[in-house]
Amino acid sequence: VPELPEVETTRRGLEPLTVGKQVARVLVHNASLRWPVPAALARSLPGLVVQSLGRRSKYLLMEFDRGTLIVHLGMTGHLRCVNADEKKIKHDHVEIFFSDGTVLRYHDPRRFGAILWTTEDPLRHQRLAHLGLEPFDEEFNGEYLYRLSRARSVAVKPFLMDGRVVVGVGNIYASEALFRAGILPRKIAGQVSRAAYQRLVPAVRAVLSEAIAAGGTTIRDFSDNDGRPGYFAHNLRVYGRGGQPCVTCGAVIRQARLGQRSTYFCSSCQK
Ligand SMILES: [Zn+2]
Repeated sequence: VPELPEVETTRRGLEPLTVGKQVARVLVHNASLRWPVPAALARSLPGLVVQSLGRRSKYLLMEFDRGTLIVHLGMTGHLRCVNADEKKIKHDHVEIFFSDGTVLRYHDPRRFGAILWTTEDPLRHQRLAHLGLEPFDEEFNGEYLYRLSRARSVAVKPFLMDGRVVVGVGNIYASEALFRAGILPRKIAGQVSRAAYQRLVPAVRAVLSEAIAAGGTTIRDFSDNDGRPGYFAHNLRVYGRGGQPCVTCGAVIRQARLGQRSTYFCSSCQK
């Protein structure tokens, strides 16, 4: 499952290949993604120029002179921009041809992804309006987490993974960030100190930044709901290391289920 770092990696890769290009035509081969691909795309996109490629949570926002294409990769979605003479392959559901002879192809075997269109502010679109803060936003800070968590009886790990609190902190990233911040994953969110939350925010950013630099953590292996560590695996200090010695203190890393997810921690380093 593409997580925020994979989506950001996709955005950075596609930005120089799409911004400034004019759409020549659009072919929708299969409109039945998670939500139907709007039929109007084939009429409204041609002639428009890509102004920017942004991201909000795991949504890519391709902004045109009038309107924004909102793309979610779902579980198996993938975007690539190639020369139009490169042969289309199975599960390439949508093609956006540019006037320079390249084509942006949306590929998605399981079709849980989405391509939406809005002429309004995309950040106020019904799919995006209620999302929590971006992890790299200034407003996401220790004070914010401290304030929001008071009177919350949920454990700190699911609290951190709640997309209404902050977006993009998946299971692997939450485990790693809590380890780096020295916070036990099962500790009640409302009992975590302000100082601990102030350590947690830079830990979240560091883990996500490393994953973005490495191109994300997950490879496409559907046997594991938590996503299998990929390029980022060598950077993982606690996730997937149950029974092995802690890299900091040598104690045995423990594994537990917390909110249906695998959780790894060092009960000596994390309090
Ligand atoms: Zn330790």
